[in-house]
Amino acid sequence: MIRRISIVCTFAALLLLAFSMAQTDAQPGTVKQIVPGAWFREGDIKNLGHCNNIIIEMKDYLIVIDANFPSGARLALEAAKKVSSKPVKYVFDTHHHGDHAYGNPVWTQNGATTLAYKGVLDEMKRYEPRRWQETAKQRKDVAELNLPTAEPPKQTFDKSPFILRDDTREVRFYYFGWAHTRGDGFVYLPKEKVLCTGDAVANGAYNYMADGNIGNWPTVIRQAEKLDVVHVLPGHGAPAGKELLDGQARFMSELYGAVKSSVNQGKTLEDIVKMEGDKLTSTNIQLSAKVKNWVGDDLAGQVKDTYEEITQHKPHGDLPH
Ligand SMILES: [Zn+2]
Repeated sequence: MIRRISIVCTFAALLLLAFSMAQTDAQPGTVKQIVPGAWFREGDIKNLGHCNNIIIEMKDYLIVIDANFPSGARLALEAAKKVSSKPVKYVFDTHHHGDHAYGNPVWTQNGATTLAYKGVLDEMKRYEPRRWQETAKQRKDVAELNLPTAEPPKQTFDKSPFILRDDTREVRFYYFGWAHTRGDGFVYLPKEKVLCTGDAVANGAYNYMADGNIGNWPTVIRQAEKLDVVHVLPGHGAPAGKELLDGQARFMSELYGAVKSSVNQGKTLEDIVKMEGDKLTSTNIQLSAKVKNWVGDDLAGQVKDTYEEITQHKPHGDLPH
């Protein structure tokens, strides 16, 4: 009996632990200290389209992770001024998407150097100025900058990891391969065991896959998982623990596996997603409860992207889109 109670208690404790570790409630607009000298500002993705920002304090300056959209850049700059009087010296673009990099001019006008893995620059050459100009039609903060195209990062590196280090802290910038984009950069604080993932890892149903390499995505995350990590700070959604990496990798693997098996059974795209006009409305692809944190309204769209990648034998980002 005692043994049984203790098993039940252990199970309940594990459940409680799992619950407390996974999907902490979203708190857009808040700034919280993750470890001494590193703060997380949660972007309001739903209303403002903003990504998350991380502020890292060095001995004489600050590093900000992600430039955000211009309006998000201003909010992050304000947050940085509140937590420290040191200047922002570097702003790291985790990738080229507008909600992570279109704020670059705001930061450089404020004296910072924008920094990225060289793949970010290559992606901008590939997709700009088309996306900038399309976004400027929809977003006032982008239009108001009155620029013809996205501002590329001022400094890039191609050897991973690139390291910034002083007496107080070491910050490593990694490239592990093509997951969300060809430029996905991760930022790692080895002493504090903090990992900033950009959109290669999201906490919630925020995975945009059109520019991605869906089949390779889990491999990239498994590389990041080899690091000694306690805090995972995603590109969108709330901060979490290391289990977020495994969950995100599983979601990608399950999705890819489920679509692949449909393809192997000879199913067409119309067999697995429902379309009304050119709008995707639903899918009959089912994933396990373990990955429900990543499943949202866009699952049918993600299934379509995965189907195209598998049947056209190319990473989705290499297909015309
Ligand atoms: Zn993105």
